[in-house]
Amino acid sequence: MPPPRRLLLIDDERLQHRLVGQMLRQFRGAHFDLEIASNCREGLEQLRSGGHAAALLDYRLTDGDGLSLLAEARAAGCRTPVIFLTANTGDDLDMAALEAGAVDYLEKAALSPKMLERSLRYALRLSESLEQLRQLATRDQLTGLLNRREFDRILGDELARCVRFDRPAALALIDIDHFKKVNDTHGHPAGDAVLQHVAGIIAAQARDVDFVARYGGEEMAVIMVETTAGAARVAMARMAAHLARTPCRIGELALPVTFSAGVAAVPDDGLTPAALIAAADHALYAAKRGGRNRVFSAQEAQLAQAVAV
Ligand code: GH3
Ligand code: MG
Ligand code: MG
Repeated sequence: MPPPRRLLLIDDERLQHRLVGQMLRQFRGAHFDLEIASNCREGLEQLRSGGHAAALLDYRLTDGDGLSLLAEARAAGCRTPVIFLTANTGDDLDMAALEAGAVDYLEKAALSPKMLERSLRYALRLSESLEQLRQLATRDQLTGLLNRREFDRILGDELARCVRFDRPAALALIDIDHFKKVNDTHGHPAGDAVLQHVAGIIAAQARDVDFVARYGGEEMAVIMVETTAGAARVAMARMAAHLARTPCRIGELALPVTFSAGVAAVPDDGLTPAALIAAADHALYAAKRGGRNRVFSAQEAQLAQAVAV
C-alpha cells in the first residue's frame, strides 16, 4: 500500500474537523493523514510550507475568507490543489472559487465520503498532470536544468527584487572548455553525456536556493541570490575544481572535463539582466583567454583588460 498522503483541512469548526476525519476513514482506496489549520493565518503558513497532496479550504473563516487566502497562497508560489468546502450555496461562489484557482467546490451539507474521495482523486490527478506540463515548459530535456526561458524570467524577477530591496545577487555564466572536441572525437551522444555530467555536478554543488539553468548549447548559468561577487566567485571556483577532478565516465572512457566561468553581481556590475549578462559574459571571455578551467569576476576581467592595454 502506498504511504499516506498529507491532507490539509483549513476550517475553524471543530465539528468539521471531526466529520472530515471520519470520512477519510471510510475511503475505499486513498489513504490520507489529516492536518488541521483552524484559521487563515495558520492555513496560509501551512500552504506556504508546502508538502501537502491537497487542501480542503473552508469558504468563510473567522479571521478572513478562503478566496483571499487562496489568492495569497498562489501568489506566494503554492501549487497545492485546493478544494473549497462551504456551507454557502450559489453559482457565484462556485465561479469565484474556480477563478481563484480552486480545483473543486463541495457543499458541506451534501458531502459524502464517496464524493470527497472522488473529488480528491481528480484533484491529485490534475495536479500531477499540471506538474508534468510545468516541468516540460520550464526544464531543459537533456540536462533537467531550468531552460532559457525560465532563466530569463527568474533573472528578471530576482534582479528587480534585489535592486528594490538593496540586496546582493550574483550571476555566473559557465562554458565547457573544448567541448567541440568531445563531439568531434567521441560523437554527439558522448557530448550529451558530458553535458549531463557537468549539469549534475553544478546542480549538486549549488545551494537549494540558487537557480541553475542551461543557458545555451554548452553554456550554463547560475543565479545566486543573497550572494556577493566575491562569494559567488569562490563558490564557482569550488565547482570548477570539483569538476576538474571528476572525469565523465562513458563506458570504458573517462573523459576529463573542465569549464570556465564569469561572475557578475548587482549592484557593482550592473542593475539589469542585460547589463549583468554582458558583464558575466565579458568575465567568461577573460577566463577563456586566461587559459580556461578558471573563474573570473567582472572586476578581475576589467583589471586584466587594463593590464593588457
Ligand atoms: P571553448 O573552450 O572555447 O569553449 O571551445 P568549445 O569547443 O567548447 O566551444 P564551441 O562554442 O566552439 O563549441 C560548442 C559546441 O557545442 C558546438 C555545438 O555543436 C555543441 N553543442 C551545442 N549543443 C549541444 C548538445 O545539446 N549536445 C551536444 N553533444 N553538443 C552540443
Ligand atoms: Mg560556447
Ligand atoms: Mg565551450
